[in-house]
Amino acid sequence: MRPKQTLKAEMTHTADFTTPAETAGFVFPNPYPAPLSGRRFVLATDLDGTFLGGTPGDRRTLYRWIEDNRATVGLIFVTGRDPAFIRDLCGSGDVPWPDYVIGDVGTTIAEVTPEGEISPIPVLEAEITRAWNGSGARVRELLADEPGLTLQPTEFRHRVSYDMDPARVRPSAHALVKRLGLEVLTSDDRFFDVLPAGVSKGPSLKRLIAHLGLVESRVLAAGDTLNDASMLALGIPAVAVGGSERRLLDQVGHLDHVHVAQGVGAAGIDEAIRVLDLH
Ligand SMILES: [Mg+2]
Repeated sequence: MRPKQTLKAEMTHTADFTTPAETAGFVFPNPYPAPLSGRRFVLATDLDGTFLGGTPGDRRTLYRWIEDNRATVGLIFVTGRDPAFIRDLCGSGDVPWPDYVIGDVGTTIAEVTPEGEISPIPVLEAEITRAWNGSGARVRELLADEPGLTLQPTEFRHRVSYDMDPARVRPSAHALVKRLGLEVLTSDDRFFDVLPAGVSKGPSLKRLIAHLGLVESRVLAAGDTLNDASMLALGIPAVAVGGSERRLLDQVGHLDHVHVAQGVGAAGIDEAIRVLDLH
């Protein structure tokens, strides 16, 4: 049970929020100073194919439900996308703003500030920065001539990412990365991410959950491809949404705490919240 005082504060903010949301889509700033630890349920979700997947109607239903229950629902994006993408996405007003962002395949851990900035949390990123050790230039140089890898145009802080042609990638590409003490994570048969060792969505979500003091049984991890496996395997309530990559289901589909949804994308998240009785 939460203290009465918290409830009262949250309800006041609900009233503040609904007015602009009804007239102009999902607007920033998300005006809830209430910490996530005081909310009944926290959704930690992948974006492409998961939160952004499913029919437009299913997405609208989920997003509206979140906004209408924002006082008791926290939202964390856990994605391969970078902060600039999320700013554009949520700035459109069509998608609710998250409270926190784990971006860049787990190599960014950030809060959304009252000013609308996606601001990295240094204490949570220290270990990531150390493990990466400024390896970007070395990775790009070593993999420059590897077939089947096309460097993505954006420079990321703690990773190097390629679009991959899986039929052409050679084992040597993996070996070169390993020699640098880094790790390769492939996903959806088309992304080849070079990451600091031991860093991915799951470990970063775990770190953020501990930092925020969340009750693990009230957090739902949602995903659809192989780079979501580490967070779906954490042991917290989880959903592999309908349409998930076969290899993700092979890895985590049999786990007791993972709900394999029928509903595709947003509908699968909605289904899991009901089936697992999370709100
Ligand atoms: Mg996805």
